[in-house]
Amino acid sequence: MTNFAELNTKKMSSTYTSNLRIEKAATSKLKDVNFENIAFGKTFTDHMFMCDFVNGEWQQPQIMPYQPMTMQPSARVFHYGQAVFEGMKAYKDDDGKVFLFRPEENFKRINKSSARLAMPEFPKDYFFEGLTTLLNLDKDWIKPGVGNSLYIRPFAIAIDPAIAAAPGESYRFMIICAPAKAYYKGTVKVLIAEQFSRSANGGVGYAKAAGNYAAQFYPTNLAQQKGYQQVIWTDADTHTFLEEAGTMNVFFRINDTLITAPTSDRILDGVTRKSLIQLAEDNNIKCEVRPIKVNEIVEASKNGSLKEIFGAGTAAVISPIEGFEYQDTYYELPEIGAHSYSSMLKERMLNIQHNLAEDKHHWRYEIK
Ligand SMILES: *Cc1c(COP(=O)(O)O)cnc(C)c1O
Repeated sequence: MTNFAELNTKKMSSTYTSNLRIEKAATSKLKDVNFENIAFGKTFTDHMFMCDFVNGEWQQPQIMPYQPMTMQPSARVFHYGQAVFEGMKAYKDDDGKVFLFRPEENFKRINKSSARLAMPEFPKDYFFEGLTTLLNLDKDWIKPGVGNSLYIRPFAIAIDPAIAAAPGESYRFMIICAPAKAYYKGTVKVLIAEQFSRSANGGVGYAKAAGNYAAQFYPTNLAQQKGYQQVIWTDADTHTFLEEAGTMNVFFRINDTLITAPTSDRILDGVTRKSLIQLAEDNNIKCEVRPIKVNEIVEASKNGSLKEIFGAGTAAVISPIEGFEYQDTYYELPEIGAHSYSSMLKERMLNIQHNLAEDKHHWRYEIK
């Protein structure tokens, strides 16, 4: 087996010279956008970042107007799903300063995902120079105020026109950005998976691989037909351990203790998850990181000690769950409203992200 870690170090060792090419959009689409009524992920900013990997090297990185691109129908990404992505956000404070939240984590994670999909790692300098320049060009797209943000989608795909089932030789790394508003999806009821799995031991569950999402759509549709918005994934072997909620990490509160599963090759190491674990500690909330059984929360629900369940991820920060179905029984969570850990922790996170609170762990990263 090829040692990609080694290959990648070689690829990355070429000395970095700043040669980002910028082609500005002739006109901005900003004036046509109604920020009051914006559907998530359908409107994109004026520019995008792109860098190709050819002949064993990353080529000149470029920023250009957001536009369609052409590709051979034989491009490997279409046939074998060699694709990874990230999701991050930029926030603006009332002084117009723009911040990212722990972007280094996203950078490290996309390279971890790439390594698992046998794709070349992307150089750090290219990533941060590209991202910073892109955000400066499109910063008018970021509205200030809690609830507003710019969703940033870095991704990488195999583009060689060759349908041989082997890793590609040409890749494209891109960053596109979409303005986002806080959205209330209404209440979330979840179905605990008893048959389908999101990921398996030795698999790609820990990577943000595009195919992980495609594989979730069908079981999620079935859950929706039964009246549930999301699936809580359990371990593929026994379906007895709780792992993730939809495309988010998941936390349970029993009495006054939070519990979340340890990360593994099946569970994605979320930036929100690890930040919430730290914030819980900062606020003297006990948080246990340990495997958690379905039976444990069923019992806790029956005896009234199960207080909250919530998903954690960049898009919504925290998404409270109002009840779950397991083995044809529906368990409803108590209404604790303003006293919930989920609303308290969410507010703390948003305040740090929007430069409204002290940032003692140095999570904010100002775009200059
Ligand atoms: C992206 C993602 C998360 C959340 O990660 P964040 O870094 O907090 O956004 C959780 N689970 C899965 C499967 C994901 O793809």
